[in-house]
Amino acid sequence: MNELSLFSVGISILEITYIIASVLFILGLKMLSHPLTARRGNIYAAIGMIMAIVATILFHQKEGKPIGNIGLIIGAIVVGTIIGWVIAKRVRMTAMPQLVSFFNGMGGAAAALISMMEFPHVSPELIAESGMSNGHVLAILLGLVIGTVSWAGSMIAFGKLDGWIGDLRVKAMKFVNLTILAVIVVLVAYIMTRDVQAASELTTFIYIIFAIAVVYGVLFVMPIGGADMPVVISLLNSFTGVAAAMGGFLYNNQAMLTGGILVGSAGTILTVLMCRAMNRSLLNVIVGVFGGGGKANTEEAGTVKEITVSDAAVLLSYSKKVVIVPGYGLAVAQAQHICHELDKLLEEKGVEVKYAIHPVAGRMPGHMNVLLAEADVPYEQLVESDEVNPDLPNTDVLVVIGANDVVNPAAEDDPSSPIYGMPIIKARDARNIIVMKRGMGKGYAAIENMLFFNSKTRMLFGDAKGTLQNLVNEVKAL
Ligand code: NDP
Repeated sequence: MNELSLFSVGISILEITYIIASVLFILGLKMLSHPLTARRGNIYAAIGMIMAIVATILFHQKEGKPIGNIGLIIGAIVVGTIIGWVIAKRVRMTAMPQLVSFFNGMGGAAAALISMMEFPHVSPELIAESGMSNGHVLAILLGLVIGTVSWAGSMIAFGKLDGWIGDLRVKAMKFVNLTILAVIVVLVAYIMTRDVQAASELTTFIYIIFAIAVVYGVLFVMPIGGADMPVVISLLNSFTGVAAAMGGFLYNNQAMLTGGILVGSAGTILTVLMCRAMNRSLLNVIVGVFGGGGKANTEEAGTVKEITVSDAAVLLSYSKKVVIVPGYGLAVAQAQHICHELDKLLEEKGVEVKYAIHPVAGRMPGHMNVLLAEADVPYEQLVESDEVNPDLPNTDVLVVIGANDVVNPAAEDDPSSPIYGMPIIKARDARNIIVMKRGMGKGYAAIENMLFFNSKTRMLFGDAKGTLQNLVNEVKAL
């Protein structure tokens, strides 16, 4: 085989591999939409990614030459794989959102670095020789801005979810953020319209744009807190996808383009759904303005009434309809299996048991679905909040297990509350309410919950797993 045909075989193998990788990404994403197939979907997408990387290293050609720096590339892959593997193995289930935020930020940083590396090489000759267009230059700049915002924002989100960065709310934040966005647009337009011999003459502007994008990424996530974090996390996810797609467009790399578009579009769809679920506007997410903005009532109000495990067991066993509201505390306690045991026991006694799933319950989108699927709770038993709410007045007992913000009536009653306007599970409409939690600890939004002081509410204090185990024993003994 002569050199030319070897080269063309290389190119076609590369293209075919990219197509197969893209198909695997799409199949993987589809499978991720259901807990039963999610694990396999992850593996499919990972195989696609490995194929794309290996094929690029083996077959990619630039001006007839194979790619260089192989040692550095493989070294970086090995180091990254080891660090990622160890972190992923060690992470607690409840710390997953922080980890997702961190990994997402790394994707944004990689996309921004590609732009920073590529921009100085752009020249009129290169544009003429390589068929590069102004579109490619714009892709480099957008990759830089969006990737940097995603990296900086994700790092702040990581700190907030991990609890070492608080909220910072300044009145003029919306104005400041819009101004920063405008400055970025002006700088990008300036670079695009300047007549220069080589882009390297404009490299200083690239660093200025990078610095401003870092400030924007930090400022737009800083004020967001309380219950609104899931929306911003999915938005940052979509940013990383779009930034990666810019790299795919720049390198004419179909696998990178498809992967980026899939992440970008899936993240955007999730952001829109989350905005709807939280009753927030997308513009407010982008400029970092959320919720009621006022200071919420964080003081305890009145007294709470408790219930014993045996009384709770009797109440539940002699009910017709029971709705369980799982929340973050159920995940912390890893009480999903014993919870399913309780619901099976009650169903054996003729009680109808449903799980009310709030879209932001827990600490990551779909957290409760994944948790309950792990315990083999049938999917048909899960009901979304807007579907369950109309039926709550006919529900004999609503059991809140480790949930707080998602059942907090302040979202409906208190315009000054940071969660005001967020749709909730209207727990107070049920005939009886049992709340299982360890004490009077607040939820993620750090505000008081008047549901606990409602005359229909009885508190069942203790770790969710232990309490549920005692409850199962009592129900069995009845
Ligand atoms: P919350 O965070 O509002 O409340 C959880 C409650 O669980 C706490 O009040 C705590 O009370 C209790 N708890 C903790 N550990 C245990 C345990 N071992 N046993 C029993 N109870 C326990 O949870 P929700 O699910 O109601 O709401 C989720 C919140 O997280 C929302 O504000 C949401 O916006 C936010 N969020 C969601 C994300 C997502 O994507 N889903 C991402 C980021 C934030 P006590 O200490 O008294 O036990």
